[in-house]
Amino acid sequence: MELFIIIVVAVFGLVCGSFFNVCIYRIPRDLSIVAPPSHCPRCKHRLPFWLNVPLLTYLFLRGRCFFCREPISIRYPLVELLTGLLFGAAAWQFGLSPALARALILIFLLVPITFIDLEFQIIPDGFSLTGIVIGLAGCWWWGGSVPWWEFLLGAASGWFSLWLVAAGYYFCTGRDGMGGGDLKLLAMFGAFLGYKALLPIILLSSLSGALIGVGLVVWQGRDGRYAIPFGPFLAAGGLLYLFYGRQLLDFYWSLVLPA
Ligand SMILES: [Zn+2]
Repeated sequence: MELFIIIVVAVFGLVCGSFFNVCIYRIPRDLSIVAPPSHCPRCKHRLPFWLNVPLLTYLFLRGRCFFCREPISIRYPLVELLTGLLFGAAAWQFGLSPALARALILIFLLVPITFIDLEFQIIPDGFSLTGIVIGLAGCWWWGGSVPWWEFLLGAASGWFSLWLVAAGYYFCTGRDGMGGGDLKLLAMFGAFLGYKALLPIILLSSLSGALIGVGLVVWQGRDGRYAIPFGPFLAAGGLLYLFYGRQLLDFYWSLVLPA
């Protein structure tokens, strides 16, 4: 029963991932996400439904268009696989509960945000602002014993706190390191997870961002002016908190206040 639900949710994730690929390609290019139907970007051949099966189509065609043999980006199966795994993990972690609905909605927003930000260095407002509204609207349902104002305060202080970080970064370096899209994304986390989640998420994402940033500089010899989009790190930090928030806080307090 449990396993069955996890598998159903994971397969649903694969299908959502397939839809995300459409969003990731079309939304930043201002194309409609419903029309025209899926087609090869090179030969424009329309994909029949049997060539639109998540993961399997890519494996079956060995990463090339069925019609013109143009290589298909590895991003397509990766996004599908990632979404399927995250959905399955959420079902495993939260079971059939309001918390699962919150997790799936967050993942639904974060996967396209991450890949759009990686490629275009933008986080479309359509995702983050919609997320803030959904987070605040649903908090009475999935918030459990947490009062509604913690989520409202989360959205407000998320907006404000990363603004402070950005101002501090500008003060220290004289450069803009973070865009307004990141502010709205953090506010979205506040709306979904409450204000207590914000500091851990900022710490987690800054830490991973710094590690990867330093790694990139060492590996590629970047001159430091290359701005890595921060959105994917925020998304990763937010997901880590969503899945392991309580354990992370317990671990943190065990360091600060050893028993
Ligand atoms: Zn083609």
